[in-house]
Amino acid sequence: MRALYWNGVNDLRVGSVKDPEIVNPRDAILKVRLSTTCGSDLHFIDGYIPTMKAGDVIGHEFMGEVVEVGSAVKRVKKGDRVVVPSFISCGECWYCQEKLFSLCDCTHPKPELQEPLLGYPTAGIYGYTHAFGGYAGSHAEYIRVPHADVDCFKVPDGVEDETALFLSDAAPTGYMGADFCGIRPGDTVAVWGCGGVGLMAQQSARLMGAERVIAIDRFPERLRMAREHAGSETLDYTQVHSVLEALKEMTGGRGPDSCIDAVGMEAHGTGPQYAYDRVKQALRLETDRAQALREAIMACRKGGTLSVLGVYGVIDKFPMGVIMNKGMTVRSAQQHGQGYMDRLLAHAQKGELNPAYLATHRFSLEEGPRGYDMFKHKTDGCVRAVFAP
Ligand SMILES: [Zn+2]
Ligand SMILES: [Zn+2]
Repeated sequence: MRALYWNGVNDLRVGSVKDPEIVNPRDAILKVRLSTTCGSDLHFIDGYIPTMKAGDVIGHEFMGEVVEVGSAVKRVKKGDRVVVPSFISCGECWYCQEKLFSLCDCTHPKPELQEPLLGYPTAGIYGYTHAFGGYAGSHAEYIRVPHADVDCFKVPDGVEDETALFLSDAAPTGYMGADFCGIRPGDTVAVWGCGGVGLMAQQSARLMGAERVIAIDRFPERLRMAREHAGSETLDYTQVHSVLEALKEMTGGRGPDSCIDAVGMEAHGTGPQYAYDRVKQALRLETDRAQALREAIMACRKGGTLSVLGVYGVIDKFPMGVIMNKGMTVRSAQQHGQGYMDRLLAHAQKGELNPAYLATHRFSLEEGPRGYDMFKHKTDGCVRAVFAP
C-alpha cells in the first residue's frame, strides 16, 4: 500500500510499504478514508522527540471503513464507517476501567523506552514515535486498529467524514480540556491557541455553559474562526503590551475563571522570556518554549483552574510558586477520547459541534509532504491539512 513516512529529520516521503495484517484476534483493519495533520507531529518531524526510525508511517487522527476483523471482534463489523481515538486502549486494565484511556497500561509494547522519562508508560499511539509504542500511523491506505471493539466508534448517518475525522483527536482533546475546567454558568474561560484543539476547546467551553470565552492567538484568520465558529471574544497578543493586563481589563480586574493552554512547547511570544526560551531550545538546553503556559498561570484568577492540553517535555523557570500561592488547580492529560466519544457523536449529530471547518486544506496522500509543509508554516491560513488516501 502507499503511505506517508518519516525518513529523517524534516524529511517526509510517500512510498510503498507492507500492508497491515491482523496479528491479534481483537484487531481490525481499516481502509483509511481521511487522515489529518496534528501540531504534535511537528515535534518528531523536527527531531525534538527522538525514537523515530526511517520508514515509520506517521499520522494519528483518522477515520475509515472496516475491511477486516479478527476472530474475537464482536461489536465492529466489515463495512462499518468508524472513527478511532488516537490513543490505543485495551478497555480492561485498571486505567481503562477508570476511564483514563490514554493512560492504558496494556498497549505500550516498549515501556522501557518511556519509563525513564515518565516513570510509567502511557498508552500507545498511532504513528507517533517508538517512545509512544511504535504503531504504524494513519497517513496510509490501510491501518491496523488493535482492540477494535474498544477503540472503533461507529459514525452515525448524517455525520460527514470530515466531521468524524476531527472526533479522533482535536475535538475530544478540546472537549476534555473544557471538561477539566469544571465550568459553572457565568464563567469566563480563556483559551491560548486557535488551532484545531484550541477552537474545539472554545466551542466545548460554550457547550458546557461558559458565559464568555476569550481566545488568544496572533493569526487574524484563526482569530476570525474563533469569533465566527466558537463565538469567542479574541485577543491578538502581538497587539497588546501584556496579555495579563489585557485579560484583567476584560474581566473587571479578576481574571478568567479557567485558562486552557492549547499551544504547547513551541509557543511563540514576545519579550525577553521568549528570547531566552528560543535560544535555550535552539541549543537543546531546554526542550520547550512555554510562553503560553506561563502567561496562562499568571493571568488565571486566584483559585482558578489551569487546563493544559499543549504537549510538553522539560520546561525552565516553571512558576510553581504562582500556582501554589494563587491556590490554582492544574489538570492535564493526553485525550481520553474513548470516554467522550458518545457525547461528541451526539453533539455532532445535533449540529452542536461541527469541526469540519478545521479542514482548510485537502490533499491526496501523494501530496503528503507538501501538506505538512503548508500546515507547519500555516501557509494560506492552513489550520489542518487533510489527506484522502
Ligand atoms: Zn493529534
Ligand atoms: Zn487499558
